[in-house]
Amino acid sequence: MPSKSEMNRIRELIERKGGIIRERNSQLYTIRVRIPGGVLTPDMVLGIGRITRRLGMGSLHITTRQTVEIPHIEQNKIPSLLRSLEKIGIGIGAEHDEVVNITACPGNKRCKLANIGTDTILDNLDRAHFGKGMPIRVRIAVSACPNGCTSERLSEIGITGLRMPIRNQGKCTGCGTCANTCKENAIVTVNGRLTLDTEKCMECGMCIDSCPFQIIRGLGPYYMITVGGRRGRHPQLGRELIRVSSAEKAVEIVNRVVDWIRRNAYSGKNLTDQMDTMDFSQLQTKIIKEFGEPVADRTG
Ligand code: SF4
Ligand code: SF4
Ligand code: SF4
Repeated sequence: MPSKSEMNRIRELIERKGGIIRERNSQLYTIRVRIPGGVLTPDMVLGIGRITRRLGMGSLHITTRQTVEIPHIEQNKIPSLLRSLEKIGIGIGAEHDEVVNITACPGNKRCKLANIGTDTILDNLDRAHFGKGMPIRVRIAVSACPNGCTSERLSEIGITGLRMPIRNQGKCTGCGTCANTCKENAIVTVNGRLTLDTEKCMECGMCIDSCPFQIIRGLGPYYMITVGGRRGRHPQLGRELIRVSSAEKAVEIVNRVVDWIRRNAYSGKNLTDQMDTMDFSQLQTKIIKEFGEPVADRTG
């Protein structure tokens, strides 16, 4: 039987933290676990399975934000479940007004399209911010290319890995491979010459590797930081704050944005809807002054 102090702690977690979620049947709870970037070891997977078999009702739920929920847990079983999770190195997740599970795509360790690595960024941000109490719920997501597999631009804070195509010296054969590779129709023929339409180009970098004659060079990688995206009923892309060329700078800027949200946001309102009241442009001016880099010339 759980002790009185354990049950008091559980009640506090239910009220104040989001990892223990009361279900439609108010006698039962769903336990959301903390899985930064959705990465689990085999032992963790087996452990979660065993815990679910012992204390749950036979099924797990994989969430859209790379974590796992163990549903239908009776309140008096929660302390035992949390102790068992702790033994396999897993903490409970977050859901209330706090920084919730930080998501990341596999990045350049696995994905052919990745422009950046995601592991170090994920580790740093998870250690610094996961579970931090905030006026609003804050989702942080990292995608290593504009394909946006973690919906980072629909998150309160997003990092997207970019590479910018630039023409090298040398004779373009006009073979059209790069234009055929581009999904944005951003490489067009103007006066018989292949030209980049910078308005359309998303800087995914796919054309760079496609050229058989190395006529296209990639600048970067860049880390684009967006703020104020949201999913749900009225999805909206975040606003671009800045692009920088190092992971360290990107992490430091996200630290500043988390602090800005913590100090300036009001609860009960989406970040998207209060960006102007919070003076996003002033934040942007400060960030650009401190971290801004020269803009690359793309006309070559
Ligand atoms: S966001 Fe891009 S790099 Fe990351 S997994 Fe998706 S396609 Fe690959
Ligand atoms: S970087 Fe991507 S979007 Fe831009 S031109 Fe190349 S393939 Fe097209
Ligand atoms: S793939 Fe290379 S050579 Fe072919 S059109 Fe594009 S830039 Fe020119």
